[in-house]
Amino acid sequence: MTIKEIFETMDYGPAPESAADALAWIVDQGAAFGQYIDGQWTAPRKDFQSRNPANGETLADLSQASQDEVNAAVAAARKAQPKWERLGGHGRAKHLYAIARLLQKHARLFAVLETLDNGKPIRESRDIDIPLAQRHFYFHAGMAQLAEAELPDQQAIGVCGQIIPWNFPLLMLAWKIAPALAMGNTVVLKPAEYTSLTALLFADICTQAGLPAGVVNIVTGDGAVGEMITAHDDIDKIAFTGSTDVGRAIRTATAGSGKSLTLELGGKSPYIVFDDADIDSAIEGLVDAIWFNQGQVCCAGSRLLVQEGIANRFYDKLRARMDGLRLGNPLDKCIDVGAVVDPVQLQTITDMVASNTEGQTYPANVDIPAEGCFYPPTLITGLAPSARLMQEEIFGPVLVATTFRTPGEAVALANNTRYGLAASLWSENVNLALDVAPKLAAGVVWVNATNLFDAAAGFGGLRESGYGREGGWEGLSAYTKAKGTAKPLKPITAFSGDKGPTDPLDRTAKLYIGGKQTRPDSGYSQNIHGRNGTLLGQAPIANRKDIRNAVEAAGAAKGWSATTGHLRAQILYYIAENLSARSDEFAHRINALTGGRSGAKEVDTAIRRLFTYAAWADKYDGQAHGVPIRGVALAMKEPVGVIGAFCPDDAPLLGLVSLMAPAIAMGNRAILVASEPFPLAATDFYQVLETSDVPAGVVNILTGAHADLAKPLAGHMDVDAVWSFSSTNLARPIERESAHNLKRSWVNNGAARDWFGAAGEGRAFLQAATEIKNIWIPYGE
Ligand code: NDP
Repeated sequence: MTIKEIFETMDYGPAPESAADALAWIVDQGAAFGQYIDGQWTAPRKDFQSRNPANGETLADLSQASQDEVNAAVAAARKAQPKWERLGGHGRAKHLYAIARLLQKHARLFAVLETLDNGKPIRESRDIDIPLAQRHFYFHAGMAQLAEAELPDQQAIGVCGQIIPWNFPLLMLAWKIAPALAMGNTVVLKPAEYTSLTALLFADICTQAGLPAGVVNIVTGDGAVGEMITAHDDIDKIAFTGSTDVGRAIRTATAGSGKSLTLELGGKSPYIVFDDADIDSAIEGLVDAIWFNQGQVCCAGSRLLVQEGIANRFYDKLRARMDGLRLGNPLDKCIDVGAVVDPVQLQTITDMVASNTEGQTYPANVDIPAEGCFYPPTLITGLAPSARLMQEEIFGPVLVATTFRTPGEAVALANNTRYGLAASLWSENVNLALDVAPKLAAGVVWVNATNLFDAAAGFGGLRESGYGREGGWEGLSAYTKAKGTAKPLKPITAFSGDKGPTDPLDRTAKLYIGGKQTRPDSGYSQNIHGRNGTLLGQAPIANRKDIRNAVEAAGAAKGWSATTGHLRAQILYYIAENLSARSDEFAHRINALTGGRSGAKEVDTAIRRLFTYAAWADKYDGQAHGVPIRGVALAMKEPVGVIGAFCPDDAPLLGLVSLMAPAIAMGNRAILVASEPFPLAATDFYQVLETSDVPAGVVNILTGAHADLAKPLAGHMDVDAVWSFSSTNLARPIERESAHNLKRSWVNNGAARDWFGAAGEGRAFLQAATEIKNIWIPYGE
């Protein structure tokens, strides 16, 4: 081709990256891999193969880990954990730093291997995946260094089982392993069957970095190996990234096991373009939103919402841009769109698009290689919001689009999904952008940008996109727990008796739903006796209908979530003041109910607790993360929504206040199921709420059998989180039921808590009562 011809066509020439070093590394390993357990390799088997999706060639033979091998990996991690934690923050920081340095040193080898194994363009693996993985290790070397000073009350969770998908193999490994190790945990990690090679190269790096044996263990294989990890009794925590269906199965399988769990699941993230947006930038942003990694990105901007007035112009420009995308050999540095990970995924994408009969489908007018797993960038316009492709994750280079008229409609359409992972919005009007961003149901929002990630900013979702954050300070809580060993909580049973009432007047309490005292749907109440058998009154027996009414009332009170911290603080102080005015009466009541003498102390502590959360209401601030862009990532703390809570049985007033106060201080609405054996302190307490300006529906109080109410409350689709500190261990039913809509759960697993002491209040409660939304705002002309 002559220079004149090049100028005329402006075509790129091929610029292939050499695969030689990466292929040589595979050959050096014998082109077959075993498991990496306790710092050693097991003998390789040829159970399955890793293939290059761009040309179908086999890269290496891999072994499917057996149950014995998984057991050995867990045992090695268990053995190594105490010493690794005792090494201290500085000692661990040095190891993490060494890993980061080695990742940097071998960056090109990792990038090429990743592209060979996964099919993603080398530009992406070289410039995004591998640098971000390095950054994660550097950042968490710093976290290890700071942990003892900054998180003095926290300790490692123990052995972590980590299961990752195929779309960002090394990066997901880094997101999981770096914070776990930094906080003193050890890990057993399973990469996805399609893409294990960079994890195996990483194992090699761990050896080179002198990481103590057993701290990192890598086991390969398919979902069956994942199941062995989730089912293993000696694993303390599971961290999973992948599909919502498997996430739900893991939640169900681990229910009641005491394992902590974080889930980073799918998404159908909206990409909202307002009519005042910089259209060319928004089009270029879309290339990164949906054609980055062939659209196989959990937070891909896969649902385009364009303001009606500019829609046709926008679509025309977009189609023209799509036609300019270059599809082909992922190792070519000029390629925009590489290969889909595997023929199975290619078939899934093909079938999903083929099954759609609505709207207009536009496949980009591009050359498609004759061989390999390639799918053209595709735009489907004119779909109804309820269309299957508008709702379901395609996980391929397919963008679906619809229009909206007003910002309010944009928010409604954006939130019309069961997911809540990420969102992008484009507008040159900062007021509009910053008004809309907090209204989007998503863990991450990018303003005039998309797919920005950094170790300093937490990433993760809500709703069926899962829970927990990876990155930032917020990500560390997934790998730490409070210091000390909790004592088991003995079940507390109600007193019985046959003595008459102390007060001849009927003292039948009611439920408190939507700001009103209501009779229970069941029509039944139960006698509540004191220790000496005296009848103290009757408490209603709530049923699932009452739960539904309470959830509806809490849902209707959503204005509470938009109030200021200052207002919420005032109301909490007012509750404290009104409780204080009746403190003697409450103290007597508690003593009569529990047969103890700590009533006065309990009321006093409850008043202090109300003050504590009144104080926190306007002080539990977010953060501006120092991410390496020209801009900021604002970590905003938002209420979780509707929280259902089973109150402690042992401290009938203080326990209830200890759950209610942080929940409502942070803007949540609460459904509180009172102490089961001693419910009458709670039913007296609603009179305090009635006189304290608490809006109807913000606090709802039910009484009844915890075990009967756990299922309907935890299974309700409009409840966003469930907590239990009941002396009946409700971990299993709550965690199982929470799997339906993947709501957050916080359960005591049968462990006691000192409600009178420091453990009864503080940041753990505030954290459970909030979601963190990271809003990325690049700036500059
Ligand atoms: P999966 O959720 O099936 O896989 C994620 C990881 O979990 C893999 O390591 C997988 O193993 C493992 N796994 C599979 N089944 C189980 C199980 N029962 N218990 C424990 N671990 C298990 O996702 P896929 O890779 O199959 O992709 C399917 C769909 O999931 C995609 O089309 C996409 O929609 C979505 N997805 C979402 C991702 C995200 O980041 N949110 C990432 C990847 C996929 P193995 O792959 O070896 O079988």
